[in-house]
Amino acid sequence: MSGSWPQRLAAHQSQRREQGLWRERRVHVRDAVDDFAGNDYLGLAQDPRVSQAAAEGAQRYGAGARASQLVSGHLEVHRRLEARLAALVGRPRALLFSSGYMANLGVLQALCDGTTAVFQDRLNHASLLDGAKLAGARARRFHHGDLDDLACLLRRSTSEAPRLVVSDGVFSMDGDVADVPGLVGLCRRHDAWLMIDDAHGLGVLGAHGDGCVGRAHGSDEVPVLVGTLGKALGTAGAFVAGSELLIEHLLQFARPCIYTTAEPPGVSAATLAALDILEQEPERREQLRAHIARFRTGAEALGLKLLPSTMPIQPLLLGDNARTLRWAETLRALGLLVGAIRAPTVPRGQARLRITLSATHETAQIERLLDALAELTIKEGRP
Ligand SMILES: *Cc1c(COP(=O)(O)O)cnc(C)c1O
Repeated sequence: MSGSWPQRLAAHQSQRREQGLWRERRVHVRDAVDDFAGNDYLGLAQDPRVSQAAAEGAQRYGAGARASQLVSGHLEVHRRLEARLAALVGRPRALLFSSGYMANLGVLQALCDGTTAVFQDRLNHASLLDGAKLAGARARRFHHGDLDDLACLLRRSTSEAPRLVVSDGVFSMDGDVADVPGLVGLCRRHDAWLMIDDAHGLGVLGAHGDGCVGRAHGSDEVPVLVGTLGKALGTAGAFVAGSELLIEHLLQFARPCIYTTAEPPGVSAATLAALDILEQEPERREQLRAHIARFRTGAEALGLKLLPSTMPIQPLLLGDNARTLRWAETLRALGLLVGAIRAPTVPRGQARLRITLSATHETAQIERLLDALAELTIKEGRP
């Protein structure tokens, strides 16, 4: 891979193409397809009340926040949103970040250095892995969801180093939910802090849509809780929730929060409106659950091998990159959009269609997807 820059780039790209891992971006025209690829699980990204709140927030506070939080970018609408998010997940405080990726980099960089030991589930989101790397922490990975393996690693780490166990709450490409009580127990026994990134659980799980951690597990059990706003809440940005001590620490030391412009106020206003809807319309979560059940029953009747997920993320494992692309392309030609997920987002040999459901899907759309999958199965055989 030596030589000039153009040669170097061309070599990387042709290698990627040869591996069947080339990625392409296309302009997504919302009304032209049935979208089973997004993370808008409650349909809030398209709710007119949320867009209206975004417009009003922008008119009232300006299109941009004009400065970072610690300078003059922290506005009343941000303060209200942070208080509301902290209350939703039952924690003393919350701190906004511009994205989930930045929140994870910020937390890990602020908490960890070369003396800390970080333990990560193998299937954790890329931002968690990158955050530990950025912090220069000694990172170890345990087998996915395997508490025995984690216990073993924790026992073997003899140093006096502070320990942090890190896990997705709901795994973004598999749709399974972390064993939070199990992780809480292990962390307690081994004197470790627990950090959960509940990007896909927030808004979907929990009695109040407060996620897989939320009010069920307080700061004493899960000291570091990350939630993102671009998925079930349908807007953008992210937050970290926890104790006064944690949040002050992040405000002092989390560089991805300190050295960036505060979130556009219209986005925060929109998120407040989305939180109102989350609270007032629990039937959206019921509808979503009904859609998940309908899809799984239909897919099982076709003999399709779905991963065991009870979440709106329903992956269909195909294994082979070319096959995954072909199936996704066939579906797209029928106006059905699903994610074609390959390495390095998932382990090699585990390429899959990532099918996601939303409360605002029509049952007929789900039937159409099942019919198309049935035809593919007849034509190509069961995966
Ligand atoms: C999507 C996602 C993120 C990143 O959040 P953004 O706000 O999109 O940057 C972080 N963690 C997990 C588990 C995610 O699924």
